[in-house]
Amino acid sequence: MADRVEIDLNGKRRLALDGVHQAVVAARTGWAMVLRAGQFLRITDPCGKQAGDFWAFNAADPDEHLSAMHTRVWVNRLCPRPGESFHSSHRRPILQLVADTCGVHDLLTAACDSHRYRLYGVQGEHPSCVGNLRQAVAPLIPGRLFVPQPVNLFMNVQVFPDGRVETGENPSRPGDHVILKAWIDCIVALSACPQEFNPVAGWYPSDLLVDVLEPAR
Ligand SMILES: [Zn+2]
Repeated sequence: MADRVEIDLNGKRRLALDGVHQAVVAARTGWAMVLRAGQFLRITDPCGKQAGDFWAFNAADPDEHLSAMHTRVWVNRLCPRPGESFHSSHRRPILQLVADTCGVHDLLTAACDSHRYRLYGVQGEHPSCVGNLRQAVAPLIPGRLFVPQPVNLFMNVQVFPDGRVETGENPSRPGDHVILKAWIDCIVALSACPQEFNPVAGWYPSDLLVDVLEPAR
């Protein structure tokens, strides 16, 4: 379980959080759970250079989900900064970014899927972030799932003034993390990206770590 964690609320005060649940998301696999309103989720890259594809759905109505395009319009940038919130497809905050030691995340690129690996020439099965998401949320969201644009944590996609978009090496160092606070009960899901054909997992996919935290009593 995570030790006590202190977060800085924009220099105004510090808030102590205690771990209530921890899980290792093994390299190339997915994970999902229900995060209650007011709980915090810390996602850590223990080895560095590892992308984590992240999604969130309203637990009461999974048709409402964290939406990259609605978030960008609200925060007027490509990714929220600490203090700002990710917004849902119903145009309301769903998760607040309260801490971020990396500062580089991508909200533009599609999650990897079986079609992507086929383009690389992979014959047969290969794990993918879309496959990991579907498998992880199946017990929580029955039926066929619409896969929204993920938040690609720790992933380095640069947009240049001439419109070029380029995926580079992930800048995350071992131990880099984000902490998110749930505004509503939501189903959160994470895939430790199994991509080894480009730099988004540092050419060697590794584990991610998740901690659910609550304000210390
Ligand atoms: Zn992936």
